[in-house]
Amino acid sequence: MLEIAVFFVMVVPAIALRARQRGVNKVLYVAAAIAGFVLFLILGLLGLGFIALALRWVWVGGVFLVLEFLANRGRKASGTWQCPNCQMFNDLRTLKCLCGTSYEAAVTAPEDSP
Ligand SMILES: [Zn+2]
Repeated sequence: MLEIAVFFVMVVPAIALRARQRGVNKVLYVAAAIAGFVLFLILGLLGLGFIALALRWVWVGGVFLVLEFLANRGRKASGTWQCPNCQMFNDLRTLKCLCGTSYEAAVTAPEDSP
């Protein structure tokens, strides 16, 4: 089923990635997303059909919203920041660069002088 493939190949890695960037436990968020998705998948098989389809994507969207706006609330960068380690630009809600450098470490790192 394409929908399940999309969920595990695209959505789960996206949640794991965003959780890592947000500096929260990615296992927790991935587990929550999978648990809800599978639950509504089963309800779909039991005959809830379209309602279950809608609910599982609402659930996944909800996990993303919690991750984005409730997890680590209050902690955010003052704006877009550039990682001193890999030079990648991160948005203000990203607290940890993909290379592992945290925002705190980035702002306290000495500027490279040309
Ligand atoms: Zn980096």
